[in-house]
Amino acid sequence: MANSGKPTPAMRHVYRGTFMHSTQQAPLQILEDALLGVDKDGKIAFIGKGGELNKLSQDFGFSPSEVTQLTKDEFFMPGMVDTHIHAPQYSYAGTALDLPLLQWLDTYTFPVESRFRDLEFAKKVYTQVVKRTLRNGTTTACYFATIHTDASLLLGKIANDFGQRALVGKVCMDMNNSVQHYKETTQDSQDETRRFITELLKKKYPLVKPVVTPRFVLSCTGPLLGELGAIARDNNLHIQSHISENAQEVKIAKEMFPESETYTDIYHKFNLLTDKTVMAHGCYLSDDELNLFKETGASLSHCPNSNISLCSGVLNVRNVLKHKVKLGLGTDVAGGYSASMLDAVRRARDTSKFITIQTPEHETLTFEEVFRLATLGGSQALSLDEQTGNFEVGKDFDALRVNVAAPEGPIDISQEEGPKIQLERFLNLGDDRNIVEVYVAGRKVIPFTEPTAE
Ligand SMILES: [Zn+2]
Repeated sequence: MANSGKPTPAMRHVYRGTFMHSTQQAPLQILEDALLGVDKDGKIAFIGKGGELNKLSQDFGFSPSEVTQLTKDEFFMPGMVDTHIHAPQYSYAGTALDLPLLQWLDTYTFPVESRFRDLEFAKKVYTQVVKRTLRNGTTTACYFATIHTDASLLLGKIANDFGQRALVGKVCMDMNNSVQHYKETTQDSQDETRRFITELLKKKYPLVKPVVTPRFVLSCTGPLLGELGAIARDNNLHIQSHISENAQEVKIAKEMFPESETYTDIYHKFNLLTDKTVMAHGCYLSDDELNLFKETGASLSHCPNSNISLCSGVLNVRNVLKHKVKLGLGTDVAGGYSASMLDAVRRARDTSKFITIQTPEHETLTFEEVFRLATLGGSQALSLDEQTGNFEVGKDFDALRVNVAAPEGPIDISQEEGPKIQLERFLNLGDDRNIVEVYVAGRKVIPFTEPTAE
Protein backbone atom coordinates (compact mmCIF):
# COMPACT_ATOMS: atom_id res chain seq x y z
CA MET A 1 0.00 0.00 0.00
CA ALA A 2 1.30 3.45 -0.88
CA ASN A 3 2.59 5.40 2.04
CA SER A 4 2.29 9.11 1.57
CA GLY A 5 4.95 9.85 4.15
CA LYS A 6 2.49 10.23 7.03
CA PRO A 7 4.10 9.49 10.42
CA THR A 8 1.53 6.79 11.15
CA PRO A 9 2.94 3.39 12.12
CA ALA A 10 1.99 0.33 10.14
CA MET A 11 -0.22 -1.97 12.21
CA ARG A 12 0.97 -5.49 12.91
CA HIS A 13 -2.43 -6.58 14.26
CA VAL A 14 -5.84 -5.00 14.74
CA TYR A 15 -8.45 -6.82 16.84
CA ARG A 16 -12.12 -6.13 17.47
CA GLY A 17 -14.00 -7.65 20.38
CA THR A 18 -13.96 -7.78 24.18
CA PHE A 19 -10.86 -6.75 26.13
CA MET A 20 -10.65 -7.14 29.92
CA HIS A 21 -7.87 -5.78 32.08
CA SER A 22 -7.07 -3.97 35.33
CA THR A 23 -6.14 -0.38 35.98
CA GLN A 24 -4.82 1.41 39.04
CA GLN A 25 -8.38 2.52 39.78
CA ALA A 26 -10.37 -0.57 38.83
CA PRO A 27 -9.46 -4.22 39.37
CA LEU A 28 -11.57 -5.09 36.33
CA GLN A 29 -12.31 -2.87 33.37
CA ILE A 30 -14.35 -4.41 30.56
CA LEU A 31 -14.09 -2.94 27.06
CA GLU A 32 -16.80 -4.42 24.85
CA ASP A 33 -16.73 -4.14 21.08
CA ALA A 34 -13.35 -2.44 21.33
CA LEU A 35 -10.72 -1.99 18.62
CA LEU A 36 -7.08 -2.43 19.55
CA GLY A 37 -4.15 -1.91 17.22
CA VAL A 38 -0.62 -3.24 17.69
CA ASP A 39 2.16 -1.43 15.83
CA LYS A 40 5.19 -2.95 14.14
CA ASP A 41 7.21 -2.60 17.36
CA GLY A 42 4.68 -4.74 19.23
CA LYS A 43 3.26 -1.81 21.17
CA ILE A 44 -0.40 -0.91 21.61
CA ALA A 45 -0.96 1.93 19.15
CA PHE A 46 -4.61 2.66 19.89
CA ILE A 47 -7.64 1.43 21.79
CA GLY A 48 -10.97 2.66 20.49
CA LYS A 49 -14.58 1.70 20.04
CA GLY A 50 -15.82 -0.56 17.26
CA GLY A 51 -17.97 2.26 15.93
CA GLU A 52 -14.82 4.31 15.30
CA LEU A 53 -13.46 1.81 12.79
CA ASN A 54 -13.45 4.10 9.78
CA LYS A 55 -11.76 6.98 11.57
CA LEU A 56 -9.18 4.74 13.27
CA SER A 57 -8.38 2.97 10.03
CA GLN A 58 -7.65 6.32 8.41
CA ASP A 59 -5.67 7.68 11.35
CA PHE A 60 -3.53 4.56 11.70
CA GLY A 61 -3.28 3.48 8.09
CA PHE A 62 -4.91 0.07 8.09
CA SER A 63 -7.73 -1.39 6.05
CA PRO A 64 -10.97 -2.43 7.83
CA SER A 65 -10.59 -5.79 6.08
CA GLU A 66 -7.41 -6.44 8.11
CA VAL A 67 -9.31 -6.39 11.39
CA THR A 68 -9.56 -9.74 13.20
CA GLN A 69 -12.98 -10.13 14.83
CA LEU A 70 -13.22 -12.14 18.06
CA THR A 71 -16.21 -14.45 18.52
CA LYS A 72 -18.78 -13.97 21.29
CA ASP A 73 -17.01 -16.64 23.35
CA GLU A 74 -13.62 -14.94 23.10
CA PHE A 75 -11.85 -12.10 24.86
CA PHE A 76 -8.38 -10.72 25.30
CA MET A 77 -6.80 -10.30 28.74
CA PRO A 78 -3.26 -9.23 29.65
CA GLY A 79 -0.60 -11.94 29.81
CA MET A 80 0.03 -13.21 33.32
CA VAL A 81 3.16 -12.39 35.32
CA ASP A 82 4.76 -15.16 37.39
CA THR A 83 6.80 -13.19 39.91
CA HIS A 84 8.56 -16.24 41.40
CA ILE A 85 9.42 -19.56 39.78
CA HIS A 86 12.41 -21.92 40.06
CA ALA A 87 13.09 -23.21 36.54
CA PRO A 88 15.28 -26.21 37.54
CA GLN A 89 12.71 -27.42 40.06
CA TYR A 90 10.22 -27.91 37.24
CA SER A 91 11.97 -31.26 36.77
CA TYR A 92 10.26 -32.60 39.92
CA ALA A 93 7.09 -30.49 39.94
CA GLY A 94 4.13 -32.38 41.35
CA THR A 95 6.22 -34.50 43.69
CA ALA A 96 8.13 -34.20 46.96
CA LEU A 97 5.57 -32.21 48.90
CA ASP A 98 5.85 -34.09 52.17
CA LEU A 99 8.48 -32.07 54.05
CA PRO A 100 8.71 -28.58 55.52
CA LEU A 101 10.91 -26.02 53.76
CA LEU A 102 14.37 -26.57 55.23
CA GLN A 103 14.21 -30.37 55.09
CA TRP A 104 12.61 -30.15 51.64
CA LEU A 105 15.55 -28.10 50.36
CA ASP A 106 18.11 -30.55 51.77
CA THR A 107 16.31 -33.69 50.65
CA TYR A 108 14.94 -32.80 47.21
CA THR A 109 15.95 -29.39 45.96
CA PHE A 110 19.71 -29.17 46.39
CA PRO A 111 20.45 -32.64 44.96
CA VAL A 112 18.32 -31.86 41.88
CA GLU A 113 19.68 -28.34 41.36
CA SER A 114 23.25 -29.63 41.54
CA ARG A 115 22.55 -31.63 38.36
CA PHE A 116 22.25 -28.44 36.31
CA ARG A 117 25.99 -28.35 35.79
CA ASP A 118 25.02 -30.75 32.99
CA LEU A 119 23.99 -28.45 30.13
CA GLU A 120 22.09 -31.16 28.25
CA PHE A 121 19.86 -31.78 31.25
CA ALA A 122 19.49 -28.04 31.77
CA LYS A 123 18.48 -27.52 28.15
CA LYS A 124 15.83 -30.21 28.37
CA VAL A 125 14.23 -28.94 31.59
CA TYR A 126 14.51 -25.24 30.75
CA THR A 127 12.87 -25.78 27.36
CA GLN A 128 10.07 -27.68 29.06
CA VAL A 129 9.41 -25.02 31.68
CA VAL A 130 9.48 -22.09 29.25
CA LYS A 131 7.10 -23.88 26.87
CA ARG A 132 4.77 -25.04 29.64
CA THR A 133 4.49 -21.63 31.28
CA LEU A 134 3.97 -19.82 27.96
CA ARG A 135 1.24 -22.27 26.98
CA ASN A 136 -0.45 -21.54 30.31
CA GLY A 137 -0.39 -17.82 29.71
CA THR A 138 2.73 -16.67 31.58
CA THR A 139 4.04 -13.92 29.33
CA THR A 140 6.50 -12.67 31.97
CA ALA A 141 8.42 -14.92 34.36
CA CYS A 142 10.90 -14.08 37.12
CA TYR A 143 13.13 -17.14 37.25
CA PHE A 144 15.58 -18.56 39.75
CA ALA A 145 18.04 -20.84 37.93
CA THR A 146 20.88 -22.57 39.84
CA ILE A 147 24.43 -21.62 40.88
CA HIS A 148 25.70 -22.65 37.42
CA THR A 149 26.42 -19.62 35.26
CA ASP A 150 26.42 -21.32 31.86
CA ALA A 151 23.17 -23.15 32.51
CA SER A 152 21.61 -19.90 33.74
CA LEU A 153 22.70 -18.17 30.53
CA LEU A 154 21.10 -21.05 28.63
CA LEU A 155 17.78 -20.37 30.41
CA GLY A 156 18.01 -16.76 29.20
CA LYS A 157 18.61 -17.95 25.65
CA ILE A 158 15.67 -20.36 25.73
CA ALA A 159 13.28 -17.72 27.09
CA ASN A 160 14.46 -15.37 24.34
CA ASP A 161 14.11 -18.04 21.64
CA PHE A 162 10.50 -18.78 22.60
CA GLY A 163 9.71 -15.09 23.06
CA GLN A 164 8.96 -15.00 26.80
CA ARG A 165 9.67 -11.86 28.80
CA ALA A 166 11.90 -12.95 31.65
CA LEU A 167 14.11 -11.93 34.51
CA VAL A 168 16.70 -14.66 35.00
CA GLY A 169 18.78 -15.12 38.12
CA LYS A 170 21.91 -17.15 38.63
CA VAL A 171 21.47 -18.33 42.21
CA CYS A 172 24.10 -17.27 44.76
CA MET A 173 24.83 -19.38 47.84
CA ASP A 174 28.08 -19.78 49.75
CA MET A 175 26.59 -21.83 52.59
CA ASN A 176 25.14 -25.32 52.38
CA ASN A 177 25.79 -27.90 55.05
CA SER A 178 23.61 -30.67 53.67
CA VAL A 179 24.72 -31.01 50.05
CA GLN A 180 28.34 -29.94 50.31
CA HIS A 181 29.08 -29.85 46.60
CA TYR A 182 26.15 -27.55 45.86
CA LYS A 183 27.57 -24.22 46.94
CA GLU A 184 30.16 -21.67 45.88
CA THR A 185 32.97 -19.85 47.62
CA THR A 186 32.09 -16.28 48.46
CA GLN A 187 34.55 -15.05 45.83
CA ASP A 188 33.30 -17.40 43.11
CA SER A 189 29.71 -16.43 43.79
CA GLN A 190 30.36 -12.73 43.20
CA ASP A 191 32.73 -13.30 40.26
CA GLU A 192 30.28 -15.63 38.55
CA THR A 193 27.41 -13.23 39.21
CA ARG A 194 29.39 -10.50 37.45
CA ARG A 195 30.16 -12.84 34.56
CA PHE A 196 26.51 -13.88 34.32
CA ILE A 197 25.31 -10.27 34.20
CA THR A 198 27.92 -9.20 31.67
CA GLU A 199 27.34 -12.14 29.34
CA LEU A 200 23.56 -11.98 29.50
CA LEU A 201 23.49 -8.23 28.83
CA LYS A 202 25.92 -8.71 25.94
CA LYS A 203 23.33 -10.86 24.16
CA LYS A 204 21.02 -7.82 23.95
CA TYR A 205 17.91 -9.96 24.26
CA PRO A 206 15.07 -7.44 24.08
CA LEU A 207 12.89 -9.09 26.74
CA VAL A 208 15.31 -11.04 28.96
CA LYS A 209 17.27 -9.35 31.75
CA PRO A 210 19.46 -10.53 34.64
CA VAL A 211 18.30 -10.36 38.26
CA VAL A 212 20.68 -10.51 41.24
CA THR A 213 19.66 -13.61 43.19
CA PRO A 214 20.89 -14.41 46.69
CA ARG A 215 18.99 -17.64 47.46
CA PHE A 216 18.00 -16.46 50.95
CA VAL A 217 19.67 -15.41 54.19
CA LEU A 218 20.22 -18.99 55.35
CA SER A 219 22.34 -19.79 52.26
CA CYS A 220 24.45 -16.62 52.20
CA THR A 221 27.17 -15.12 54.39
CA GLY A 222 27.08 -11.41 55.26
CA PRO A 223 30.02 -10.59 52.96
CA LEU A 224 28.24 -12.21 50.01
CA LEU A 225 24.95 -10.41 50.71
CA GLY A 226 26.85 -7.11 50.94
CA GLU A 227 28.65 -7.71 47.66
CA LEU A 228 25.41 -8.64 45.87
CA GLY A 229 23.75 -5.47 47.14
CA ALA A 230 26.63 -3.47 45.68
CA ILE A 231 26.53 -5.31 42.34
CA ALA A 232 22.80 -4.64 42.00
CA ARG A 233 23.24 -0.97 42.88
CA ASP A 234 26.21 -0.40 40.57
CA ASN A 235 24.42 -1.99 37.62
CA ASN A 236 20.89 -0.80 38.46
CA LEU A 237 19.59 -4.36 38.42
CA HIS A 238 16.60 -6.21 39.73
CA ILE A 239 17.01 -8.28 42.91
CA GLN A 240 15.05 -11.35 44.00
CA SER A 241 15.19 -13.58 47.05
CA HIS A 242 13.02 -15.23 49.70
CA ILE A 243 11.86 -13.81 53.03
CA SER A 244 9.88 -15.01 56.02
CA GLU A 245 8.50 -18.12 54.36
CA ASN A 246 8.62 -20.54 57.27
CA ALA A 247 8.75 -20.02 61.05
CA GLN A 248 11.90 -22.10 61.56
CA GLU A 249 13.67 -20.18 58.79
CA VAL A 250 12.76 -16.84 60.40
CA LYS A 251 14.20 -17.98 63.72
CA ILE A 252 17.50 -19.13 62.19
CA ALA A 253 17.86 -15.96 60.11
CA LYS A 254 17.56 -13.84 63.24
CA GLU A 255 20.09 -16.02 65.07
CA MET A 256 22.56 -15.66 62.18
CA PHE A 257 22.31 -11.87 62.16
CA PRO A 258 21.60 -10.86 65.79
CA GLU A 259 22.54 -7.25 65.07
CA SER A 260 19.50 -6.93 62.80
CA GLU A 261 16.17 -6.40 64.46
CA THR A 262 14.10 -8.21 61.89
CA TYR A 263 14.50 -10.50 58.87
CA THR A 264 13.65 -7.57 56.60
CA ASP A 265 16.30 -5.47 58.29
CA ILE A 266 18.98 -8.02 57.31
CA TYR A 267 18.34 -7.49 53.60
CA HIS A 268 17.91 -3.76 54.14
CA LYS A 269 21.33 -3.45 55.83
CA PHE A 270 22.96 -5.11 52.81
CA ASN A 271 21.19 -2.73 50.37
CA LEU A 272 19.10 -5.55 48.97
CA LEU A 273 15.73 -3.83 49.43
CA THR A 274 15.18 -1.45 46.52
CA ASP A 275 12.32 -0.48 44.23
CA LYS A 276 13.54 -3.27 41.90
CA THR A 277 13.49 -5.98 44.58
CA VAL A 278 10.94 -8.78 44.72
CA MET A 279 10.90 -11.05 47.77
CA ALA A 280 8.95 -14.29 47.76
CA HIS A 281 6.49 -15.20 50.52
CA GLY A 282 6.64 -12.81 53.50
CA CYS A 283 4.15 -14.91 55.51
CA TYR A 284 5.50 -13.78 58.89
CA LEU A 285 6.35 -10.13 58.25
CA SER A 286 5.33 -7.67 60.96
CA ASP A 287 3.60 -4.39 60.18
CA ASP A 288 6.92 -2.61 60.78
CA GLU A 289 8.60 -4.85 58.22
CA LEU A 290 5.81 -4.17 55.71
CA ASN A 291 6.34 -0.47 56.31
CA LEU A 292 10.01 -0.93 55.42
CA PHE A 293 8.96 -2.64 52.18
CA LYS A 294 6.72 0.33 51.43
CA GLU A 295 9.49 2.84 52.20
CA THR A 296 12.07 1.12 50.04
CA GLY A 297 9.64 0.27 47.21
CA ALA A 298 10.43 -3.44 47.48
CA SER A 299 7.64 -5.86 46.58
CA LEU A 300 6.31 -9.25 47.60
CA SER A 301 5.53 -12.34 45.55
CA HIS A 302 2.62 -14.28 47.02
CA CYS A 303 3.02 -18.01 46.29
CA PRO A 304 -0.05 -19.64 47.84
CA ASN A 305 0.33 -23.14 46.39
CA SER A 306 3.86 -23.38 47.81
CA ASN A 307 2.85 -21.91 51.17
CA ILE A 308 0.16 -24.56 51.52
CA SER A 309 2.07 -27.47 49.97
CA LEU A 310 5.10 -27.08 52.26
CA CYS A 311 2.88 -26.07 55.22
CA SER A 312 4.96 -22.88 55.38
CA GLY A 313 2.46 -20.23 56.37
CA VAL A 314 -0.45 -18.06 55.31
CA LEU A 315 0.10 -14.63 53.82
CA ASN A 316 -2.62 -12.08 54.56
CA VAL A 317 -2.64 -10.30 51.20
CA ARG A 318 -5.28 -7.82 52.36
CA ASN A 319 -2.94 -6.63 55.09
CA VAL A 320 -0.04 -6.31 52.62
CA LEU A 321 -2.22 -4.25 50.28
CA LYS A 322 -3.34 -2.04 53.18
CA HIS A 323 0.34 -1.23 53.74
CA LYS A 324 0.53 -0.23 50.07
CA VAL A 325 3.28 -2.75 49.37
CA LYS A 326 3.44 -3.87 45.72
CA LEU A 327 2.39 -7.51 45.38
CA GLY A 328 2.19 -10.07 42.58
CA LEU A 329 1.51 -13.79 42.41
CA GLY A 330 4.03 -16.58 41.92
CA THR A 331 3.83 -20.29 41.27
CA ASP A 332 7.08 -21.02 43.19
CA VAL A 333 7.55 -24.26 41.28
CA ALA A 334 8.27 -26.80 42.70
CA GLY A 335 7.34 -25.91 46.29
CA GLY A 336 4.17 -24.99 44.43
CA TYR A 337 3.28 -28.01 42.33
CA SER A 338 1.62 -26.21 39.43
CA ALA A 339 3.44 -24.10 36.83
CA SER A 340 0.16 -22.46 35.80
CA MET A 341 -0.63 -18.96 36.99
CA LEU A 342 -4.31 -19.92 36.87
CA ASP A 343 -3.53 -22.21 39.77
CA ALA A 344 -1.86 -19.33 41.63
CA VAL A 345 -5.02 -17.26 41.06
CA ARG A 346 -7.19 -20.02 42.57
CA ARG A 347 -4.93 -20.74 45.54
CA ALA A 348 -4.66 -17.02 46.30
CA ARG A 349 -8.42 -16.84 46.50
CA ASP A 350 -8.63 -20.05 48.57
CA THR A 351 -6.03 -18.71 51.00
CA SER A 352 -7.95 -15.47 51.39
CA LYS A 353 -11.16 -17.43 52.05
CA PHE A 354 -9.35 -19.58 54.59
CA ILE A 355 -8.42 -16.42 56.49
CA THR A 356 -12.08 -15.37 56.37
CA ILE A 357 -13.13 -18.71 57.83
CA GLN A 358 -10.80 -18.11 60.73
CA THR A 359 -11.51 -14.38 61.03
CA PRO A 360 -14.98 -13.57 59.65
CA GLU A 361 -14.38 -9.80 59.59
CA HIS A 362 -11.52 -10.32 57.11
CA GLU A 363 -12.40 -8.86 53.72
CA THR A 364 -11.95 -11.72 51.25
CA LEU A 365 -10.12 -10.91 48.02
CA THR A 366 -12.52 -10.74 45.07
CA PHE A 367 -11.81 -12.57 41.83
CA GLU A 368 -11.34 -9.21 40.14
CA GLU A 369 -8.66 -8.26 42.69
CA VAL A 370 -6.82 -11.54 42.24
CA PHE A 371 -7.03 -11.07 38.46
CA ARG A 372 -5.28 -7.74 38.94
CA LEU A 373 -2.58 -9.32 41.12
CA ALA A 374 -1.86 -11.91 38.40
CA THR A 375 -1.46 -9.25 35.70
CA LEU A 376 -0.95 -5.57 36.56
CA GLY A 377 0.08 -6.33 40.16
CA GLY A 378 2.80 -8.69 38.98
CA SER A 379 4.16 -6.17 36.51
CA GLN A 380 4.31 -3.57 39.28
CA ALA A 381 6.00 -6.03 41.66
CA LEU A 382 8.72 -6.54 39.03
CA SER A 383 8.90 -2.83 38.16
CA LEU A 384 7.96 -3.70 34.60
CA ASP A 385 4.62 -1.90 34.60
CA GLU A 386 5.79 0.68 32.10
CA GLN A 387 6.13 -2.11 29.55
CA THR A 388 3.42 -4.63 30.46
CA GLY A 389 0.55 -5.53 32.81
CA ASN A 390 -2.51 -4.08 31.09
CA PHE A 391 -3.83 -2.60 27.85
CA GLU A 392 -2.61 0.96 27.68
CA VAL A 393 -1.47 2.80 24.60
CA GLY A 394 2.32 2.70 24.45
CA LYS A 395 2.74 -0.53 26.43
CA ASP A 396 3.84 -3.76 24.80
CA PHE A 397 1.00 -6.02 23.65
CA ASP A 398 1.36 -8.94 26.09
CA ALA A 399 -1.95 -10.72 25.83
CA LEU A 400 -3.94 -13.94 25.96
CA ARG A 401 -6.71 -14.66 23.47
CA VAL A 402 -9.12 -16.73 25.52
CA ASN A 403 -11.99 -18.83 24.18
CA VAL A 404 -14.18 -19.96 27.07
CA ALA A 405 -15.98 -22.38 24.77
CA ALA A 406 -12.85 -23.93 23.25
CA PRO A 407 -13.67 -27.33 21.66
CA GLU A 408 -12.74 -30.22 23.98
CA GLY A 409 -12.05 -27.60 26.65
CA PRO A 410 -12.86 -27.81 30.37
CA ILE A 411 -15.81 -25.37 30.37
CA ASP A 412 -19.35 -26.22 29.25
CA ILE A 413 -21.45 -23.24 28.23
CA SER A 414 -25.20 -23.76 28.60
CA GLN A 415 -26.42 -20.20 28.16
CA GLU A 416 -25.19 -16.87 26.88
CA GLU A 417 -23.04 -15.13 29.47
CA GLY A 418 -21.55 -11.67 29.73
CA PRO A 419 -17.80 -11.03 29.69
CA LYS A 420 -17.40 -10.70 33.44
CA ILE A 421 -18.90 -14.16 34.00
CA GLN A 422 -16.76 -15.53 31.17
CA LEU A 423 -13.63 -14.20 32.87
CA GLU A 424 -14.66 -15.61 36.25
CA ARG A 425 -15.31 -19.03 34.72
CA PHE A 426 -11.99 -18.98 32.89
CA LEU A 427 -10.04 -18.02 36.02
CA ASN A 428 -11.71 -20.78 38.06
CA LEU A 429 -12.17 -23.56 35.50
CA GLY A 430 -10.03 -22.75 32.47
CA ASP A 431 -6.73 -24.20 31.33
CA ASP A 432 -4.34 -24.03 28.40
CA ARG A 433 -7.02 -25.38 26.02
CA ASN A 434 -8.87 -22.08 26.48
CA ILE A 435 -5.75 -20.00 25.76
CA VAL A 436 -5.85 -20.11 21.99
CA GLU A 437 -3.17 -17.48 21.34
CA VAL A 438 -0.48 -15.83 23.44
CA TYR A 439 1.31 -12.62 22.48
CA VAL A 440 4.45 -11.12 23.98
CA ALA A 441 5.44 -7.67 22.77
CA GLY A 442 3.12 -8.15 19.81
CA ARG A 443 4.69 -11.41 18.68
CA LYS A 444 2.43 -14.46 18.59
CA VAL A 445 4.30 -17.04 20.69
CA ILE A 446 1.42 -19.54 21.10
CA PRO A 447 0.61 -21.62 19.12
CA PHE A 448 4.29 -22.48 18.76
CA THR A 449 5.67 -22.09 15.30
CA GLU A 450 8.32 -24.50 14.15
CA PRO A 451 11.61 -22.64 13.73
CA THR A 452 12.17 -22.07 10.02
CA ALA A 453 15.27 -23.59 8.49
CA GLU A 454 17.83 -20.96 7.64
ZN1 LIG B 1 11.12 -19.94 45.88
